[in-house]
Amino acid sequence: MDVLLAVILILAVTGLLFSFLIKQRKKAVITSPFPDAYRHILEKQVPFYQQLNENNKNEFEKRIQQFLEQVRITGVKTTVEDLDKVLIAASAIIPIFNFPGWEYIHLHEVLLYPDSFNHDFEQQGNSRNVLGMVGNGALNHVMILSKHQLRQAFINKTGKENTAIHEFVHLVDKTDGDIDGIPAFIMERKYIQPWLQLMQHEIKLINEDKSDIDPYGATNEAEFFAVVSEYFFERPKLLKEKHPELYELLEKIFCKQPGG
Ligand SMILES: [Zn+2]
Repeated sequence: MDVLLAVILILAVTGLLFSFLIKQRKKAVITSPFPDAYRHILEKQVPFYQQLNENNKNEFEKRIQQFLEQVRITGVKTTVEDLDKVLIAASAIIPIFNFPGWEYIHLHEVLLYPDSFNHDFEQQGNSRNVLGMVGNGALNHVMILSKHQLRQAFINKTGKENTAIHEFVHLVDKTDGDIDGIPAFIMERKYIQPWLQLMQHEIKLINEDKSDIDPYGATNEAEFFAVVSEYFFERPKLLKEKHPELYELLEKIFCKQPGG
């Protein structure tokens, strides 16, 4: 009897666990076609999308729809237009496009502010200098972006900056538990040490004024990784030319296929 009871108990627990896992892993099933208005935005404004082949364009569109099903985008004192939705989702997908099953499981909502904001999330006052942030504590599942900065990054085709990509890269970095510039969850172990050394070397060059990388990247390794990832996705050719070593390691981190 005891054995039978144990078997029943094990079956019940396994069943519960499975239904829980299935619930957790349930992906948004996309049945509606990708809106033409969204595609038009990608074709006009998102160079990363423009250079994909047809298959990958379809995949990118699917991932955009999935992201928008899973993450709420809320305007704070501003309206959220299709343009904002598509640019936010594109910024989310670009860094992890080569990781097909990726989901930003810890992100529930993106708050869109009209302009920059300070750390108390007030839009008035003197320290209106924050352009984007990943929430902590009570705002753990929230990302905050500035509409102006979001759009500006996709209008300026020669810049190395993209605030939204920067924030999503912080989230990728955070997947292993720490925002420390080492995205251990996605990178092969053998690259961690070389990556750490290279980051420290490049930060030193920024501090000595011998680098074209945004000085904000010298704040710490976490900011360096986010800043240099913006550069990698915004101006890949320029980064390859100016910082071949960095380019090569970032290519390994983000699993970018040569020529892809
Ligand atoms: Zn940052």
